[in-house]
Amino acid sequence: MGGSLYRVHHESMKTTEKEAVEGLIALSNQYGTGTDYVIAGGGNTSWKSDSVLWVKGSGQSLSTIQADGFVKVNRQALAALWAKTLPSDTDEREKQVLAELMAARLPGEEHKRPSVETLLHDLMPFTYVVHTHPTLVNAITCAQDGEKTFQRLFAKEAVWIPLVNPGYILSKIVKDALEGFQKKNGKIPAIIFMQNHGIVVAGNTAAEIDAAYARIMKTIRAEVKTQADLAPLPVDAAAEARFLAALLPEAKKALAAESLFLSRVTGKTALALAADTAGFAPLSSAYSPDHIVYMGVSPIRVDSPAELPAAFAAYQAKWKKAPRVVLAKGLGAFCIGPTEKTAAQAHLLFLDAAKIAVTTPSFGGPRFMTPEHIDFIVNWEVEAFRSQVSSK
Ligand SMILES: [Zn+2]
Repeated sequence: MGGSLYRVHHESMKTTEKEAVEGLIALSNQYGTGTDYVIAGGGNTSWKSDSVLWVKGSGQSLSTIQADGFVKVNRQALAALWAKTLPSDTDEREKQVLAELMAARLPGEEHKRPSVETLLHDLMPFTYVVHTHPTLVNAITCAQDGEKTFQRLFAKEAVWIPLVNPGYILSKIVKDALEGFQKKNGKIPAIIFMQNHGIVVAGNTAAEIDAAYARIMKTIRAEVKTQADLAPLPVDAAAEARFLAALLPEAKKALAAESLFLSRVTGKTALALAADTAGFAPLSSAYSPDHIVYMGVSPIRVDSPAELPAAFAAYQAKWKKAPRVVLAKGLGAFCIGPTEKTAAQAHLLFLDAAKIAVTTPSFGGPRFMTPEHIDFIVNWEVEAFRSQVSSK
């Protein structure tokens, strides 16, 4: 099957745009439901014709997205971006690319912001693209032997993208990897594994996407030798009350919050991660951008309530914000936030990180993001927040 990189492969587009978008909404809601594929606002999806890309808008959640949550983008304008001479300075380049992305929106779409991964979606020559951050896939993408495992299990049908900052640079590296695969194998792959991030699965029908995801999950599941056990366990109530009495004022102060929301995780795995420095090691840094955004760069861990002030101060000095998960020996995890929603998000991302921590030993042990990439996301998030606030 010939055709340029940017063309949808299938010849006859029988479905109408309306039907296709209905298919896109169904796929998005399907992969957005539950926590196995995406958590909070993570992941994004798209549908494309030869001329138009419908891509998830920034700030949309896959579980609830409807037609107006997608941004219609001119594909010719996106393709033209690759021929442009861009500034060599990273910040300047990303600024220009964002401006070009905004300019590529179709008339009537000016109030929406296309996903930061829009270019990547456009590069895949398939009708549908479903990009997610599955816990099980990240057992590989966040592991020391992740790439080796990928080579053994998936290299025939997919490419591996090393850790890279989001934005244009990620799209450029993906473009080169897709073209490299095409040169070797005669076709563009439908699957992309992204280190410390997640996976992209593309297909011309929803059934193709479902079949690929099912195959990938089954293959990885068969390789995992250890499972997290997060079934709630009773803890010493008096010790918990003493700990909470010390934690609540400290957390309120750190979050500068009038009210504090708190969510508990006990269970064998949480207790083991909280037990001592060695147990905590697989949670001592960040696995992926989602973890940084929703539960902080890492949890903090203490043996006793007396250690809380110093642990909070150290985290705040380093990251200029409050920790969102506190692990206590014998008690497990306390996930905190200034609102019910943020506490719940910290809780979900902690569960996700705990599962990754337990499964990475099947693939050589944990592999965190590098300090440089962590810094980028920490600062990037601040920028994103600022732009959100300033647009109100
Ligand atoms: Zn992503």
